[in-house]
Amino acid sequence: MKRSEVDRSKLSPMMVQYMEIKDEYEDSIIFFRLGDFYEMFFEDAITASRELELTLTGKQAGLEERVPMCGIPFKAYETYLDKLIDKGYKVAIVEQMEDPKTAKDMVKREVIQVVTKGTRLDNSIDAKSNNFIASLYNFEYCYVLTYADVSTGEMFVSLMEEEEEKLIREVTRHGFIEMIANSKTDRELINLLRTSYHISVSIYDDLYEKEDYKYTYKKLKDVRFMTGVKHLLSYLLETKKGDLSHLQEVRVEEAKAHLLLDNHTKRNLELTETLRLRERTYSLFWLLDKNKTAMGSRLLKQNIESPLTNRQKIERRFRFVETLQVEFILREDLKNALDEVYDLERLSSRICYGNLNARDMLQLKSSLKALPKIKKILESLHYDQTIETFEELQDLLEKSIHEDAPITLKEGGLIKSGYNQELDELRSLSSGSKDFLLELEQKEKERTGIKNLKVGFNKVFGYYIEVSKGQCNLIKEEFGYDRKQTLSNCERFITKELKEKENIILGAEEKIIELEYQLFMQIREITKRYIGKLQKCSNVIAEVDMLQAFSEVADRYHYVKPTFSDHHELKILESRHPVVEQVMSLNNQKYVSNDIIMGQDTSILLITGPNMAGKSTYMRQLAIIVIMAQIGCFVPCKSAILPIFDKIFTRIGASDDLVSGESTFMVEMKEANFAISEATENSLILFDELGRGTATYDGMSLAQAILEYIHDKIGAKTLFSTHYHELTSLAMTLPHLRNVHVSAIEEEGKLTFLHKVKMGSVDKSYGINVASLAHLPHSLIERAKEILNIYENQKEKKPAFTQTSLFSLEEEEQEKEEKENKIEKEIKECNILEMTPMEALNFLYQLQEKIKEEDK
Ligand code: ADP
Ligand code: MG
Repeated sequence: MKRSEVDRSKLSPMMVQYMEIKDEYEDSIIFFRLGDFYEMFFEDAITASRELELTLTGKQAGLEERVPMCGIPFKAYETYLDKLIDKGYKVAIVEQMEDPKTAKDMVKREVIQVVTKGTRLDNSIDAKSNNFIASLYNFEYCYVLTYADVSTGEMFVSLMEEEEEKLIREVTRHGFIEMIANSKTDRELINLLRTSYHISVSIYDDLYEKEDYKYTYKKLKDVRFMTGVKHLLSYLLETKKGDLSHLQEVRVEEAKAHLLLDNHTKRNLELTETLRLRERTYSLFWLLDKNKTAMGSRLLKQNIESPLTNRQKIERRFRFVETLQVEFILREDLKNALDEVYDLERLSSRICYGNLNARDMLQLKSSLKALPKIKKILESLHYDQTIETFEELQDLLEKSIHEDAPITLKEGGLIKSGYNQELDELRSLSSGSKDFLLELEQKEKERTGIKNLKVGFNKVFGYYIEVSKGQCNLIKEEFGYDRKQTLSNCERFITKELKEKENIILGAEEKIIELEYQLFMQIREITKRYIGKLQKCSNVIAEVDMLQAFSEVADRYHYVKPTFSDHHELKILESRHPVVEQVMSLNNQKYVSNDIIMGQDTSILLITGPNMAGKSTYMRQLAIIVIMAQIGCFVPCKSAILPIFDKIFTRIGASDDLVSGESTFMVEMKEANFAISEATENSLILFDELGRGTATYDGMSLAQAILEYIHDKIGAKTLFSTHYHELTSLAMTLPHLRNVHVSAIEEEGKLTFLHKVKMGSVDKSYGINVASLAHLPHSLIERAKEILNIYENQKEKKPAFTQTSLFSLEEEEQEKEEKENKIEKEIKECNILEMTPMEALNFLYQLQEKIKEEDK
């Protein structure tokens, strides 16, 4: 039975309530609280039972047919919730807003939160990554992209061109999992984001117009930015419902301030995850993440994905990394202190939003304890920023929160004694009464002379006095014993005095729990006032932590400080690929270091060498060194002089593109086009065997034309590997192109890779040798060698078409065209119908002669 087909007038009142709530949250699965369960109905129930493997039942709801229903226990709902969210659903949690026992009419219910993939705050999210939700706002001539991490309070906004391809690049670069877009946004674009990039996109138009969160955007000057922020705020408040005052002031993302890496580059260089397994292990992030805090790790990840371009800012980081290397004892102290700091940023968010427990408070407390130490160390290191210490707050938490507090807030045991007088009194009353019970037992024994009399407690009868059957005859009227229960071997009694005490004891316990909860909430309110300052503090700590990690890796793996040149000079001596190097060293292998030298007058290195020689690795190595340098980290080499790059473009390896339906070659050409249209002379381009995806001559010609274009029109530093050896002769005509090759030696038909990059070109591809390494059958390899021999003898080596490149010779082109036009004109003007066959033949002969002449 579908929800839309239901005759609502027949429904039970509770189902009416359900329907009304669901109407407002059509696109979410409703978790409808009913006693100890969250129930789902109609289509929601069918979906959930399928996705969560739950039994589908039915509920009598006033209709003839039962309504489909399935439920999950309230106590264990989180795993179910996580599963649904991971699968991309939104879940609206509907709570009972009053106690069903005391409610007069039907229990009031409300949505307290909509849980979505991009707005989670719980512990299921990765501590080392941000979890961004984004708003895309179309202004019809441009877009504004606003994104926030609700779990840390960070918010960013940036302006984007309207061009779809660029927009997708920008969106995928950030790896959003959830987005909202205003309804002016092109539906096709939305569909593409949904289907090809697996982002859950909702159409949403409201803007936040109240005062509470104005502080986040009031400093922005651009109205468009404000609109973007208001758009996202409105959605966040609607879904999260609770207090979001941990949201920080929005930061404007300026493209120029960062080294631009598109998604493709990020993936190909394995910056944050490996290509094949998509795991963090063996990525650059994995290598550098020697952070002690989650904030530090997240900052590192943000930086790797978006390095700096401002020389002063980068060099400031270098200086501190250097200081930490010199002051290595202080660095150890700093590391130890940082180790005690929990995720202050996410703790702050939870404190604000409300779903925190006493353990979070304890984590906050121990984090605060470490701050004075950190502050002092930073002063000794002359770090240019400082942190606040929160003695008062620490003191409060120290005095108030019990060290062994449970996770739940409704069991008591949260608050230390000595913190609140009323609580202490209730506690002593409750425990005093317990002492009283012991005393009472003693007293009654003496009074009645019954030796084995006992005071006990059970849930049904409360406190009682127990007398064994054999002694019951000793009970006298004047004792005031009132029989309550008869068991096989004893009788249980109550007395007036006992019942009075029972009231006090049980009442006190209830009161204690309630009071502890209230006190905890008060402490939380007080803590909330520190959120802004705590966030500032955690930003400083994140940076310090990241820089301490840089200094750690620099020492551990022998990295050096690079120098920046303003003159397009690039000279890296004995450089290594940092990740491959470490992975090899795990296997006791040694990485072969290489120089990468591109002087002011070199823009292109053309790299040749057999397969498996190390061409791709060499190219990646350069890009990774550039990225490391521009985040303020030292680099794996003996010395490095580098320009500061503005963008990196890569086209490496076979296609593993998300967008299906396009051939490898098409994707390759698109990437190439993107690179050459966006690159500047300050960019770095890596083209790995470009043109491989098409017929040899096509591919080679395209590769050459692209090289010429980059050489003449862009001047970006470019590494271009190729298996078209013919291209190496381009060095004769393109003055800014140099040949290098990765060497291998062949001995008795056996190939050894040296992984050493040398000047000049090699004229052999060793394809067959490599094939034999792959253990193809011996006879097959021999036959291939024979065929190769025939080919090599048949054709002379054709050098590449090395006439001066097209682009610089446009005049010559024109002249040639004019001549061609003359002949065209003659053909057009002759009247074929009036010619005899002989005349026609003569005419043709003349034309041919003319053309021959001109070609000379
Ligand atoms: P190509 O692109 O020339 O086919 P790759 O760059 O893919 O070669 O490298 C092939 C193999 O050689 C890889 O397994 C890589 O780990 C190893 N390798 C590459 N460069 C080096 C080096 N400098 N030192 C040691 N091993 C290397
Ligand atoms: Mg390769």
